[in-house]
Amino acid sequence: MSAQLLDGKKLAQQLKDSLKREVAQLKKEYGKAPRIINVMIGNDPGSCAYATSQMKTAEYVGIDYELVNLKSDITQQKLSEYIQTLNKDSTIHGIMLHKPVPAQIDYHTLANGVDMSKDLEGINVANIGKMILGETKIIPCTPASVMELIRSSGMKLRGKEAVVVGHSNIVGKPLGLLLLEEYATLTVCHVATSEAHRLQEHVRRADVLVVAVGKPSLIKGDWIKPGAVVVDVGINRQGDKIVGDVEFEKAKEKAAYITPVPGGVGPVTVVMLMRNAVEAFKIQMEKGEKVKV
Ligand code: NAP
Repeated sequence: MSAQLLDGKKLAQQLKDSLKREVAQLKKEYGKAPRIINVMIGNDPGSCAYATSQMKTAEYVGIDYELVNLKSDITQQKLSEYIQTLNKDSTIHGIMLHKPVPAQIDYHTLANGVDMSKDLEGINVANIGKMILGETKIIPCTPASVMELIRSSGMKLRGKEAVVVGHSNIVGKPLGLLLLEEYATLTVCHVATSEAHRLQEHVRRADVLVVAVGKPSLIKGDWIKPGAVVVDVGINRQGDKIVGDVEFEKAKEKAAYITPVPGGVGPVTVVMLMRNAVEAFKIQMEKGEKVKV
């Protein structure tokens, strides 16, 4: 058996087309498009490439996207004041603070300073709290992308064994909550699971396996349960190649569905950012007046 690919590029295109229709409808209803701003500090090449991909996606779906480049010696105080200005600007519907940030900047404090209804990445503590209660549609982008990929496989999560490897605040933990919302039976593994030599035993019983660690070949192909859905979030550079955390070629022989790296989670994640922009826009429009056009 050879797994079917969960093609992130194809899924991203479908999701973009659907968002494009929604944005066109919102424009008719409110007389304007969502407008978002990406605050980038310095010129990290990886950040610039990601920003370019965001810009193209925004343009495609009809969202106004602005990239602001700030000098790398900006202080925490100045940046905090700038974010407050953006919070108050009613023409801006979504804000993201691009990572990485320079050493003098405390990212978490600033990200929490973004107005929760403009929190494009869904990482504000208030949005995470609402997510636990199932009360927000602004969801962290990578976990949202993983959920779309699983959905595209057709697997119904209810009652299935879902194993997440990695428990970071931006991927593993919020993803666990989303899987629980769908009534999967959840196991979250982390560095201590590996230290206790118990990673393999958990991975072997996963109907759905999501790996978000950043270590190539951490998950051996022969650990995969036959027929599993495997989503590999990891991004690792090996020479001139990018690979995930799962031994792809061997895992493909056992899984029913598997994401490629690159071309799996990444392309969908950027669309999830735009979906959050649309949700942020709707929240703000519902608070304000509708414009008759
Ligand atoms: P992170 O903050 O470094 O978290 C990595 C997680 O893996 C931590 O929970 C860590 O546990 C755990 N871990 C480390 N070594 C382990 C081991 N030997 N066995 C089991 N768990 C282990 O990284 P992240 O931001 O979540 O990102 C994870 C990966 O996904 C990275 O490769 C990143 O580049 C990629 N990523 C991709 C996308 C995308 O859109 N495609 C988006 C975000 C991230 P401890 O904290 O206990 O050490």
